[in-house]
Amino acid sequence: MSADPRDATYDYVIVGAGSAGCVLASRLSEDPDARVLLLEAGGPDSDEMLQIPAVFATLLRTDHDWDHSTGPEPECDNRRVYLPRGKGLGGTSSTNATIYIRGHRRDYDEWRELGCEGWGWDDLLPYFKRAEDNERGASALHGAGGPLAVSDVRHRNAIQQAFIEAAAVHGLPANDDFNGPDQEGIGWYQTTTRDGLRASTAAAYLHPAASRPNLTVETRVHALNIIFKGTRAVGVAGLRLDERLEFRAEREVIVCAGAYGSPQLLMQSGIGRPDELAQLGIWSVSDLPGVGCNLQDHPFAEIVFLTDRDDTMFGAFNETNLELLEQGQGPLTAPGLQAGGFVRTDDGLETPDVQLYCIPALLRDEALVPAHAPGVTLAQCVTKPASTGYVALVSPDPTAKPLIVHNYYAEPADLRTQIAGTRLCMELARTQPLAGCLGEPYQYPASDSDADIAAMLRRHTGSGLHATSSCKLGVDELAVVDLELRVRGTDGLRVVDASVMPSVPRGNTNAPTIAIAERAADLIRGRTPLGDETARARVA
Ligand SMILES: Cc1cc2nc3c(=O)[nH]c(=O)nc-3n(C[C@H](O)[C@H](O)[C@H](O)COP(=O)(O)OP(=O)(O)OC[C@H]3O[C@@H](n4cnc5c(N)ncnc54)[C@H](O)[C@@H]3O)c2cc1C
Repeated sequence: MSADPRDATYDYVIVGAGSAGCVLASRLSEDPDARVLLLEAGGPDSDEMLQIPAVFATLLRTDHDWDHSTGPEPECDNRRVYLPRGKGLGGTSSTNATIYIRGHRRDYDEWRELGCEGWGWDDLLPYFKRAEDNERGASALHGAGGPLAVSDVRHRNAIQQAFIEAAAVHGLPANDDFNGPDQEGIGWYQTTTRDGLRASTAAAYLHPAASRPNLTVETRVHALNIIFKGTRAVGVAGLRLDERLEFRAEREVIVCAGAYGSPQLLMQSGIGRPDELAQLGIWSVSDLPGVGCNLQDHPFAEIVFLTDRDDTMFGAFNETNLELLEQGQGPLTAPGLQAGGFVRTDDGLETPDVQLYCIPALLRDEALVPAHAPGVTLAQCVTKPASTGYVALVSPDPTAKPLIVHNYYAEPADLRTQIAGTRLCMELARTQPLAGCLGEPYQYPASDSDADIAAMLRRHTGSGLHATSSCKLGVDELAVVDLELRVRGTDGLRVVDASVMPSVPRGNTNAPTIAIAERAADLIRGRTPLGDETARARVA
């Protein structure tokens, strides 16, 4: 390989070394004849703070974060909601809360029912398993020996244990595997960690492949636009400091810049609504009205209590716990959100509509302000919101932030579900043994009425941090990529990341993104996708 990546030509140029991009860089470079370049706007992942699950909130608004926010959210008192996104090797998998959840099998079957053949549960399960190295071992629903470490939490906080017991007293079922046969219930989440340290996709996939001569990784290169010859993608233009660089792709450019970054990069490259792009002086390559539309996220809200307990996360980043961490033990090995689960707020529902978390910490101001006192947070989010938002360009400058609007609660059903979830948290807070752990309310509705709960939600709702679906795959007119994730109206260009999900899954989005990237790698390599046998049997 050439020392200067600009002088070399690659088979594949991948933009974005996040959850999906690292999987692809690793899988595509398994073929020694494929020359793979991975471009990442952020830096390496050598900062030790990235490795410690418990301190992920301290990474917000640092060099590891894109620090996006929404425009005014109409149904949330016109507040701008903070939207963190990881920047650097591993992307958001290097800064997330490490909760390992795949979603509900219905999520994927709903995609297939929308016409997304190949993306149903039976199709993706083999990829969840191929990715997984679950410390509980292999089973019909779990994988062992894959790159991604999945572990039971090594720290079970007593307040969280009280939450789990209160849920049982309240009549909610227990669940010791949310990725098992049934998602519903309350218990301990598994996390993407190994020996108590974060297993980002950089750690799991990229670093083990780093010595391959056919894989080049370039950090601190901000991709500006895709270079086209006609409608064929032939490379990527990028910026490192003030130097403009060009990287050539002989086979494909693969955009993995995430649910905010991927639609932005497509639009900067002339893929979107031609009239809107023309207003910014961007020449149209493919008229795709769906780019940036259909953006989804789980609206997230919480009630918060002060406490006089000395076993919260307040002050937990200390010498003693750092020493425990070295042995893979103690509170720093867990993200703080490790207790929770999935509930149905109405017995008539077939699938859980709310996800819960109990956090032994005082969460305030979207976690941007450090807690000033010990506290306990009961948080919940709507698992299948109907509201959709958008990502739009507001400047021809590709390094400018896009306009993002999630439209949380634009669909009244989402607010109704969130009210029901909040009311459940309020009931759990009054239930022993949890009630005995809680002191004065710190953030709480003025009363139990729908109106007062809604008022608190509008004032405090934040992002569930699960942005998806802004370059959705599908067969309708708003689909941006086809069933093999190729950008419609172009050649040699795919999108592979959370943005291609037709809708947000009922759960956290890191594992689903990884499974999608695993399947995409097979599609790109021309391999018969795993699970095809099941799909064929289904069609027959
Ligand atoms: C704080 C936080 C906590 C979360 N907690 C969890 C959790 O506990 N469990 C879970 O399952 N999910 C969690 N998520 C969500 C989950 O991590 C993401 O859905 C997932 O990582 C998205 O993967 P991706 O590949 O789509 O994007 P990303 O991982 O964000 O990757 C995109 C990459 O592209 C790079 N990039 C973007 N634009 C450009 C450009 N123009 N040029 C070059 N590079 C570019 C970015 O820097 C980034 O590295 C969390 C998210 C956040 C923000």
